[in-house]
Amino acid sequence: MSHLGYIEDKDGNLVGLNYYCSDFCNSEHNVNYAGWNGCHENEHAEYCANCGTLIAPSYASEDYELTETI
Ligand SMILES: [Zn+2]
Repeated sequence: MSHLGYIEDKDGNLVGLNYYCSDFCNSEHNVNYAGWNGCHENEHAEYCANCGTLIAPSYASEDYELTETI
């Protein structure tokens, strides 16, 4: 799960996205921070734009093998 920071141009159009590990990092780094925006699923591993923490994907993909079952 990740927190999202939206990057907007001067007209308010969405032009990019930053991933954050926590609401704290979002509020520290995101100039457009507008309140808590967490609990987003991320399909691929992302790095927090503020502190660099690895944010694990929300569900298994080809890069992350499921735990072996007996
Ligand atoms: Zn962080």
